[in-house]
Amino acid sequence: MKKSLYLLFVFFTGILIQSCTNSTAQEQNRPDWAIIIHGGAGPFWNGNITEEKKANFFNSLDEALSVGQEILANGGESIDAVEAAIKLLEDDPQFNAGKGAVLTSIGTAELDASIMNGADLNSGAVAGVRNVKHPISAARLVMEASPHVMLAGAGAEEFAATSKLELVENDYFITEARLNQFENRVAALEKEKMGTVGCVAIDQFGNIVAATSTGGTFMKKWGRVGDSPIIGAGTYANNASCGVSATGAGEFFIRGTVARDIAALMEYKNMSLQDAADEIIHSKLPAIDKEKAVGGIIALDKDGNIGFSFNTKGMLRAYANSEGIKEIGLY
Ligand code: ASP
Repeated sequence: MKKSLYLLFVFFTGILIQSCTNSTAQEQNRPDWAIIIHGGAGPFWNGNITEEKKANFFNSLDEALSVGQEILANGGESIDAVEAAIKLLEDDPQFNAGKGAVLTSIGTAELDASIMNGADLNSGAVAGVRNVKHPISAARLVMEASPHVMLAGAGAEEFAATSKLELVENDYFITEARLNQFENRVAALEKEKMGTVGCVAIDQFGNIVAATSTGGTFMKKWGRVGDSPIIGAGTYANNASCGVSATGAGEFFIRGTVARDIAALMEYKNMSLQDAADEIIHSKLPAIDKEKAVGGIIALDKDGNIGFSFNTKGMLRAYANSEGIKEIGLY
């Protein structure tokens, strides 16, 4: 009896020591913080993007990354890092989000954005807004200051107006380049299919936040809404698995519940972030439609591992972590 008690004691002490060692190792393995952003996926002029244009995109990504990086490195929270990085990209007319958004069939800009907090699965989104300068901030407001997850159109504007969010005329978003695109109806030009922005960050507290912002698809009509403001399709975050932001042919990302599926593969099948992302982007999406289900994702898992995957020619992306890793890429 005594001996079996002793063995039981040894057994449980062993387990205790092992679990302590495991969690310490895990903590040591996870970088203090990590951040990844995207600037859209697409054919990118079939590889013929000019060096100048590429450099401009890279500079903007670098700037947005640095803003988020600084917040995280100074002990700030992923929610603030993600919002700040996306706001900068919404201000940048090169991207199809905020200023510089593609135009609808009636020549307006209608913006979609979403944000999700992996700590409590709280989420916020706006769809089809025309006057909120930073749709990502409106999405955050929906998350933090309303009992809802998504607000659309006029109602979303009305809600945004109740706070200090900056409102602008719709003209503010419309750049000459987009007007030119609209007037020449160059929808068929593959090169125009890109520019949505997204960001995922994990902070020192292990909190993952994911967010996406877009003008949607060129010449969209009837109040079309894509995947970007849909939690589980274009954006998803869960501290138990990962955070994901997507870009691409939205209808297929909705049908494939892309962002949530990546997290689900990790949760239910124990897959690594990269394997899960590749499975969805390179197998599941093409199985829905080999030609049309195109795009990509950026992601971070709970251990701060960076993941991205795309089935297009390129995806603008940049990432950094507290261990000194920093990369910007396209193809
Ligand atoms: N996913 C976006 C949408 O369908 C567009 C994009 O990412 O380029 O609205």
